[in-house]
Amino acid sequence: LEKVPSDIEIAMAQTPKPIVQLAAEIGLQPSEVESYGKYKAKVELSVLERLAHRKDGKYVVISGITPTPLGEGKSTTTIGLAQALGAHLGRAAFACVRQPSQGPTFGIKGGAAGGGYSQVIPMDEFNLHLTGDIHAVTAANNLLAAALDARMFHEATQSDKALYSRLVPAKKGVRTFAPLMLKRLKKLGIDKTNPDDLTPEEITAFARLDVDASTITWNRVLDVNDRFLRKITIGQNDTEKGHARETGFDIAVASECMAVLALSNSLADMRERLGAMVVATSKSGQPITADDIGVGGALAVLMKDTVKPNLMQTLEGTPVFVHAGPFANIAHGNSSILADRVALKLAGTEEGESSDREGYVLTEGGFGADMGMEKFCNIKCRVSGLKPDATVIVATTRALKMHGGGPEVTPGKPLHDTYVKEDLVTLKEGIKNLVRHIENCHKFGIKVIVGINQFSSDSPAELELIRSESLAAGADAAVVSNHWAEGGAGAKALAEALVAACEGGSSNFKFLYDVNLPIEEKISIISKEIYGADGIQLSELAQKQVDTYTRQGYGNLPICMAKTQYSFSHDPKLKNVPSGFTIPIRAVRLSAGAGFLYPILGDMQTMPGLGTRPGFWEVSIDEQGHVVGLF
Ligand code: ADP
Repeated sequence: LEKVPSDIEIAMAQTPKPIVQLAAEIGLQPSEVESYGKYKAKVELSVLERLAHRKDGKYVVISGITPTPLGEGKSTTTIGLAQALGAHLGRAAFACVRQPSQGPTFGIKGGAAGGGYSQVIPMDEFNLHLTGDIHAVTAANNLLAAALDARMFHEATQSDKALYSRLVPAKKGVRTFAPLMLKRLKKLGIDKTNPDDLTPEEITAFARLDVDASTITWNRVLDVNDRFLRKITIGQNDTEKGHARETGFDIAVASECMAVLALSNSLADMRERLGAMVVATSKSGQPITADDIGVGGALAVLMKDTVKPNLMQTLEGTPVFVHAGPFANIAHGNSSILADRVALKLAGTEEGESSDREGYVLTEGGFGADMGMEKFCNIKCRVSGLKPDATVIVATTRALKMHGGGPEVTPGKPLHDTYVKEDLVTLKEGIKNLVRHIENCHKFGIKVIVGINQFSSDSPAELELIRSESLAAGADAAVVSNHWAEGGAGAKALAEALVAACEGGSSNFKFLYDVNLPIEEKISIISKEIYGADGIQLSELAQKQVDTYTRQGYGNLPICMAKTQYSFSHDPKLKNVPSGFTIPIRAVRLSAGAGFLYPILGDMQTMPGLGTRPGFWEVSIDEQGHVVGLF
């Protein structure tokens, strides 16, 4: 293999085409395109109505083996495959990826635009700010936090009557309820529309949310790895009259507002979900929502432009949607339903068009298939009603060797010989991890294609071993792909295998569990079927939370497991295919607006920190004004 320049050198050497040109090429009308600068645009959702009659293109989720610090190349493969299909096989092909958080970009991970000759460009705009969606999520999240604390403060410092007359002030002598107040009255069972008709008891019930401060689950957020904000005390100024409390900040992409964006099917749906988000429980045990606080509509206004998917391009000028970036552990880690929907229509066929005109949508499920793919199927597809045709599992020799017992890597030190020289014994052992993922995908009834992401040090015998073992495990195809070094041309064989699998008979997609089963049973099914656990063990707290959510009517939501991505189990040290373990469920939390329950399996960090030597040391602007050092 030839020497490949660095990711940013490759990205900077290519001039993107104007985004309006790309938009026209993929069949968008000028009125459906809202440019944000030269190389990014938002796409109006009205395109979904215009193309509603089309049959959707093929829907493929890209996932991987259990991640290792060596990196498997899921993003790179997603982009490489899209380039192969779009620029070399003449298909309409869309990559749908998450918007990266600024936190990891300046922290340890770096950008997420793919790599080598398979990237999204301009990569600096992709990695930072994009069209401002994360900033809008931050604004909405923090408005809700401010509204909650202010409401608690006013309730604590005013009588019922004073509170009521300020909540429902008289204008020109007439009091009127705001629309969301009528919703709250209905929830309380008070069938009155005239504010002057309420009894003193009804006034108290209406005006007091009576938040139990110990149950607040809503944090403030920021898109910075700011470890010192993990735990803070707020309300310490004299003006807050001693109403201080402990709280914390999360990284912006951990906000439920982000998960809501990713799982909304329309602007109206997003509005409803934002209003339904639960921030705490009242002292009498009732869930308190954003709409109870009166702020659901305002949140939707702050986030209204975020629902439009962001269009960008690959190095080879094919389209990419970059939309939503929910955290992949406490949330479901998949890009948006709306971007997938728009892409499926743009890649779709008109009545009577032959199947060789069908386009492809490649959407990425973060982390390994036990996380990203499982949540894609059980959460995202359940909400959207869309059915995937196939999954691509990305594997590398190096990462499989680490599962097979290869030593840990130390940053800055050269890789151990195992990873750069032929070692069929260690590789064969680690392939068990890949085999488990293939078997798991079959439980969802979809076609499985293994994409072997080639590194220059891989030997032909190693690549052949992965291929043959994958086929023996029942994969529909297993193909070596060299898109990192060669761009789309290097992924042609993988793309052809994907097309053959998708066109050779339909898939038989099914969910892993019935959403109406009890919460505990759903958690147990995922743990046993996907992770290979013997069973689960709920802590006392988790059991109490399960009982509360069931009583409050949230028992029939899908499950979003919050666990380490580095193991099938809850313990990141257990590589390959661990067995004989029981999954401890420390707590169970609710995302009522996004629409899932998330059991917490270990220590979950929702605000990353900066290390001693963060990525930002490299980042700067050169004499020509170009960004350097993002990788
Ligand atoms: P993931 O999506 O699985 O986290 P990425 O696609 O972001 O992984 O790739 C991680 C890093 O590995 C990137 O810097 C990318 O350039 C590099 N990489 C990916 N595939 C290869 C390859 N085949 N050879 C060399 N480097 C690669």
